[in-house]
This record gives sequence, C-alpha cells and structure tokens, in this order.
Amino acid sequence: MSSPKGSSFSSKFAGLAVGLLVATSALVPAMAQDKPTVGIAMPTKSSARWIDDGNNMVKYFQEKGYKTDLQYAEDDIPNQLAQIENMVTKNDKVLVIAAIDGTTLTDVLQKAAEQGVKVIAYDRLIRNSPNVDYYATFDNFQVGVLQASYIEKALGLKEGKGPFNIELFGGSPDDNNAYFFYNGAMSVLQPYIDSGKLKVQSGQVGMDKVSTLRWDGAVAQARMDNLLSAYYGDKKLDAVLSPYDGLSIGIISSLKGVGYGSASQPMPVVTGQDAEVPSVKSILAGEQRSTVFKDTRELAKVTVGMVDDLLAGRKPQVNDTKTYDNGKKVVPSYLLKPVSVDSSNWKQVLVDSGYYKESQIK
Ligand code: BGC
Repeated sequence: MSSPKGSSFSSKFAGLAVGLLVATSALVPAMAQDKPTVGIAMPTKSSARWIDDGNNMVKYFQEKGYKTDLQYAEDDIPNQLAQIENMVTKNDKVLVIAAIDGTTLTDVLQKAAEQGVKVIAYDRLIRNSPNVDYYATFDNFQVGVLQASYIEKALGLKEGKGPFNIELFGGSPDDNNAYFFYNGAMSVLQPYIDSGKLKVQSGQVGMDKVSTLRWDGAVAQARMDNLLSAYYGDKKLDAVLSPYDGLSIGIISSLKGVGYGSASQPMPVVTGQDAEVPSVKSILAGEQRSTVFKDTRELAKVTVGMVDDLLAGRKPQVNDTKTYDNGKKVVPSYLLKPVSVDSSNWKQVLVDSGYYKESQIK
C-alpha cells in the first residue's frame, strides 16, 4: 500500500511529466509527430543511381518530418513484391515504388488502396493498376532522342555522311521506360535506316529483338560478342545505341575484345544513360562517347513534394497528363529534363552542379 505522501508525490511527478511532455511537444513541429512512414521500394543496389535515389529521398523525407522504410530488392521480382506487401502490412501510408517489373504489382496495390495508401510510381511507370496516384520521372522519350541525336551528330548524318553500320540495344522489356527510350531514339534513327545511311547488319531492329532483360550488362556483352562474330568479321561497326551505362560497359568490353579502341580500329560511337562514375571515366578515356544525366536529387525532391501535397490534401504539381497510360488510367506525371553529357560538358553538368566531386571522376 503506498503512503498518501507517496501518492501525492507520484501525482505531482506525473503532473510534472505531463507538463514537460506538453512543453516538449510544443517545441517539436506538429508535422514531425504526425507524419507517417513512407515505404520506398527501389529495384537494385547494383547501379549507383538507385542508391542515390534512395538516399536522396530518405534525406528529403526526413527533412520534412517523415519516417522512411527504404528497401532494395536486388532485381528479384518476388523479393520486391514481398517488400511492398510487408510495407502495406506495417501500415506505411505512402508507397514510393521504382518497380523491377512494372506489371506485377496489381494485387498488392489493390490491397494498399483498400487501406487508403497513396502510391507514387518513381521513375518507372507501374502498369495495369488503377491504384497509382502520381508518376515522377524524366522525359523518357527525350532520353532516347538525346542518345540518338548524339550518334547523328558524331557521325555527321545530317550533313549526308554515310553509310555507317550501327547496332541497337534496348533496355529491359518489363520496364516501361525501355520502350520510351527506344522509341525516342528510333524517332531520330529510323529515317537514316530507311534511307540506307545507317545499316543494321544484323537486321535486329525492334524491342522484341534488341531488349536486354533486367538491364544486365553481361547479357549485353554476350549479345555484342555474338553480333560481332556473326556480322562484323569483315565489316566495321560505327555506332552502338546503348540505353544505359551498365550495358555500355559490357558492350565496350566486347568491342575491345576484338580490337576496337585502337588507332586503326577506332571505338564506335557508344551512348549511355545515368552518368555513372565508371562511364564518365570511360568517356574521359575516349571509350564511351556520351551518357544522359538525370539529376536524381531533383527527382527525389519532386517526389517528396508530391507526397507532402497529397497528404495535406493539396493537388501535386504535374506537367504531363497525356503520355503515361498504364493500361488502366493515364497517370498524372511530372517529367524532369534529361541532359546529354560528353567530354565537353561533363565538368559543368556533373561537377559544378555538385552532383559529383571532381576527385570521384579523375
Ligand atoms: C531508368 C534508367 C536506368 C535503367 C536501368 C530505367 O528505368 O530510367 O535511368 O538506366 O532503368 O537501371
């Protein structure tokens, strides 16, 4: 039995504790206490860009008072599905998803919608689901246009030079972006293929023939090996359309294997995307010729802004309401601008903007 003195002491203490709590909570911005957990599902850590995407988002979400639950699935579809299911079970109120296979999330997103969870497709469109609120990405068609325009300029196609030999590589067939990159590139290249100024000696044209499952550099390297031995024994290859730096590395290694990259056998014009450090180094070494920089800091900011607006009942800002039909609805989108990078502007675009330190590249 506690003494009356004891009980008055504990009630005083309790009163003090409550007072302290009230005082402390008055100091913490209301939003920091109320804001929910955001589940962030990223595809893989095998490419630096996704690591940057994840880290940037965590930073900006936390700055605004959100808690985050960041998961990587190492390009394994069931693994990503399980991670997202787990986020829904744990009651995360918002999901930001860069899908491995954009067509596999229909059921889990239905469950999420029933719990009132908001969903943002991050960089890659989520297909076949009405339960995608917004899409934050880059102008993916323009990425392909930039890649192909680089080849057009480097070969002097506009000036009527040619014919040249080119081979085409596409991204992963389960990633909606891959078709946008390819179609954007072909909008520039197809007229030259039609006029005979560009020749695809393998005849392999179209995403059904040129795609690269899971964006795997080793798969691209093996395909390049086959193309070189089957079609370029006595012919010179002048350009390779590559949609992603990780593929370009494999492609270049295959080209080097048969002697490209010397004075007598110059490296074909090889493109890329993401401005990953090994590829920027390769550009400075005169191997890869160009890449496309997509500032993941900006994409993370746009996404965090969208979530913040959505949860506050405001309408997130979008700049495209026509392009991204996911099979169930046109997902309102915010498209950022990609930038072409080569040996002439890498420093200005990548270092002066603070994205990389010069010491990371040189
Ligand atoms: C992204 C690219 C990236 C590729 C491979 C695409 O969905 O938009 O930036 O190069 O996936 O990771």
